[in-house]
Amino acid sequence: MPLAATELDISAIDAAAAYPGRAVINLAAIRHNVSSMVEKVHAHSPSTHVMAVVKADAYGHGLVEVATASLQAGATWLGTAQASEALVLRSAGITAPILTWLHAPGIDYAELISLDIDVSVATPEAAEAVAHAARTLGRVARVHLKVDTGLGRNGYTLDHLGEVISPLIAAQNAGDLEFVGIWSHFAFADEPEHPTVLAQADVFDRAIAMAEQAGAHLELRHIANSAATLTNPRMYYDLVRPGLAVYGLSPSPQIGGPAHFGLVPAMRLEAHLATVKELPKGHGVSYGHQYTTDADTKVGIVPLGYADGIPRHASGTTATGGLGAPVRVGEQHLRIAGRVCMDQFVVDLGTDSHAHAGDVAVLFGDENHGDPTAEDWAQACGTISYEVVTRLGERIPRVYVDHPVS
Ligand SMILES: *Cc1c(COP(=O)(O)O)cnc(C)c1O
Repeated sequence: MPLAATELDISAIDAAAAYPGRAVINLAAIRHNVSSMVEKVHAHSPSTHVMAVVKADAYGHGLVEVATASLQAGATWLGTAQASEALVLRSAGITAPILTWLHAPGIDYAELISLDIDVSVATPEAAEAVAHAARTLGRVARVHLKVDTGLGRNGYTLDHLGEVISPLIAAQNAGDLEFVGIWSHFAFADEPEHPTVLAQADVFDRAIAMAEQAGAHLELRHIANSAATLTNPRMYYDLVRPGLAVYGLSPSPQIGGPAHFGLVPAMRLEAHLATVKELPKGHGVSYGHQYTTDADTKVGIVPLGYADGIPRHASGTTATGGLGAPVRVGEQHLRIAGRVCMDQFVVDLGTDSHAHAGDVAVLFGDENHGDPTAEDWAQACGTISYEVVTRLGERIPRVYVDHPVS
């Protein structure tokens, strides 16, 4: 007898098993990428820390899983943009040092301080707020000063940096905080020869001197992201902050792909074909019929769509001559046919295809296994691989595996 809805045991439903797609995350690849960066950095600078940047749910790969794997592989710090992500790490029992850096007024600094989370400060108001929270709590906050050395984003420029340094030093002298770090971020690290890279390092060195002259006891000076970590040992200072490279993607595709940098992509995005069916020549495919079959053919329905974070820009249109993003089904290398919909898209398998409903369609993964790559997807969609992996929806189950990488 069918159960009434109210009698359904919701906890017994395995949502991941019921979902037709998944992002398979190889934690061995994460560990490989982190340990190869640790090795590279230590070869030049043995005391430099490697911080795994795990913001945005570890670039879509899973915050706690990636943080744990990164620490196992020799990362000694974790970095998050949002405070909430740092809190999740602590509530998962992770005790490693954490820095969190992007806060708006009103944030509860006391919670971060009480959990031993280092905070970044970019403005005088933030310096005051951290000091106030620490004093109220009876704890000493650990603060890293953010400097705008040329990116033109968060942090003050040298002209105004004194306005942030003064309240930090005052609060340090009052015993409310330790001014332990200073940091910045590059505008062009993906182009290591770009003149702004050395110019920013120069400004950074002057900011460091300003802070030290004012009385900071800096333990951690840091500016390198993935691209600088992989290409520019001059930028190592006391800590490096790779993000994308942890996930095995290349931060500088114009220089080389993951293999060029000794990285292994950690994520494979795949789904089971929901349907395979025949369509006649001249049949429109998907909304707006922007793709039309040019022969009698078979099409496959891939049950992932823009609600899962598949960019609508991945659509393929014969109407405008645009090629869709690549998909592999078995040995067939295909492109998306027609518009990406909310939950699904179509691939044109061709009349001779032996594909069946239930076969696996790989959207992107590791080039060495014949898969299309996140970079291929980025190029097809006019974006960067960062966005391709980060925007994947929560609806897609993450499945963790541990397959040794060669
Ligand atoms: C995201 C981020 C990083 C990591 O950048 P990648 O290019 O992914 O290595 C480092 N530092 C800051 C401040 C960031 O926001």
